[in-house]
Amino acid sequence: MTAPISHLQNLFVHQKASFSFERVPPVAERQAQLRRLADAIREYEQALVDAVDQDFGCRSALETRSAEIAVSVAAANHTIKHLKRWAAPKRYANLGNNIPGKTYTRAEAKGVVGIISPWNYPIQLSLVPLITALSAGNHVMLKPSELTSATNHVLSQLIGSVFKETQVAVVTGDAQVGEAFSALPFDHLFYTGSTRVGRLVAMAAASNLTPVTLELGGKSPCLMMADADLAQDSRLVAFGKLYNAGQTCVAPDYLLVPKGQAATYGDAILRHAESFYADPAEPEPYTTIISEAHHSRLTELLLDAGKQGAEVRSVEVAGANHPRYLAPTVVINPAPDSAIMHEEIFGPVLPILEYESLDEAVAMITNRDHPLALYIFGQNVAAAERVLEHTTSGGAVINGTIVHVAVEHLPFGGVGRSGYGAYHGERGFREFSHERSVLVFPRWKALAGILTPPYGKVLNFITRRSIDKKT
Ligand code: NAD
Repeated sequence: MTAPISHLQNLFVHQKASFSFERVPPVAERQAQLRRLADAIREYEQALVDAVDQDFGCRSALETRSAEIAVSVAAANHTIKHLKRWAAPKRYANLGNNIPGKTYTRAEAKGVVGIISPWNYPIQLSLVPLITALSAGNHVMLKPSELTSATNHVLSQLIGSVFKETQVAVVTGDAQVGEAFSALPFDHLFYTGSTRVGRLVAMAAASNLTPVTLELGGKSPCLMMADADLAQDSRLVAFGKLYNAGQTCVAPDYLLVPKGQAATYGDAILRHAESFYADPAEPEPYTTIISEAHHSRLTELLLDAGKQGAEVRSVEVAGANHPRYLAPTVVINPAPDSAIMHEEIFGPVLPILEYESLDEAVAMITNRDHPLALYIFGQNVAAAERVLEHTTSGGAVINGTIVHVAVEHLPFGGVGRSGYGAYHGERGFREFSHERSVLVFPRWKALAGILTPPYGKVLNFITRRSIDKKT
């Protein structure tokens, strides 16, 4: 626990008061704030890279720069560029409607928004929701994960250099603080993390009728069609699995391959893994597991899979000797009942299962909870797209893994147990806005006479016409 609960409540009261008394900044002012935030991110770039490295034990600097810093700056730039259009009132033609008048919707700030973020991408998953919430004119309280204290410290400084605490506040702390945080009567609560905690957050928010966005996890499948290119495609699977050592919400969790090919795919993926980190002159840093508890959870999963008959193979990364290092590993044909096929893996471990027919592969996907991502590899893109018709997932990539997260204009979110609501780009702006409908009713004297009792022939005629009208 870090922030005392009373401090949280005070901050919330002050943010509420300042949101009520200060006007919502006009679009140009919000754009200027986001520019200052993007500049601060650039200014703190090295401090952020170092802090994440410290929190993880070892985190590839290029992974931090590409997945966290570049993605956050890109989100700010995309938002600044399009905000004027997103925030403009949306007019609706009102011809042929029985109710006359001018109609439009206004995108309005919701108020004070809470953001709870996880440890796996502690910069991106704090800053992108923050940028989006601010673009809609909200005030924000941000609670990052207790597992990234060094990063949280830099984030607090960075944010404090741009915003007053009554506009954006960072509060740190563990699950107990998270619990108190999610019980605050926010105008919107945005949560990224595990499905287990997401359920608790949604229940806490429900008692305040606070709307919630849940960005959760789960087991995202990767399907290799019969015509997939083993050499090329297995490289992109290895990339998606080993980026951040598999501690990615959209990492391919398990691989489905045609009958008889599990071992071949396993070997190909391990060969790629070896080649990624093989240069002794300029060794590529291989990210470590965030904590001892997470490391032992993963080794337990591997032990259990082995005991239940799967073949567990791994390759060592040259020079990696951190106590929380975990070798790139494949698990060939795990038993369906083993824990590795039930829990989200969240580490550099890839179970590989075989299917007899495409129908069976689809059933292996649809028999589970709806995943956050689905990956399909094959030369015939139309056939891969047909798989989408028989499955559902938060997002999908054909012939690639994990990179869709960085496509700023594509909505990002889960479905079912992998979450609800979405963000990124315009979809995110809408998530953090209230769409207020406005009707400007004409001041025609006759209208009041038509609408009010005693009801006359005109209202009767209009009503009858509505009921009888067929399209
Ligand atoms: P977590 O659920 O343990 O923690 C996330 C946040 O919730 C932390 O800030 C934590 O302090 C807080 N928290 C913990 N208990 C709480 C409680 N009772 N009430 C309120 N808040 C509480 O998740 P994690 O281990 O940090 O992250 C890993 C999970 O997040 C994985 O399942 C992964 O798939 C998922 N994830 C999803 C996305 C996405 O965008 N969909 C992105 C990253 C991670």
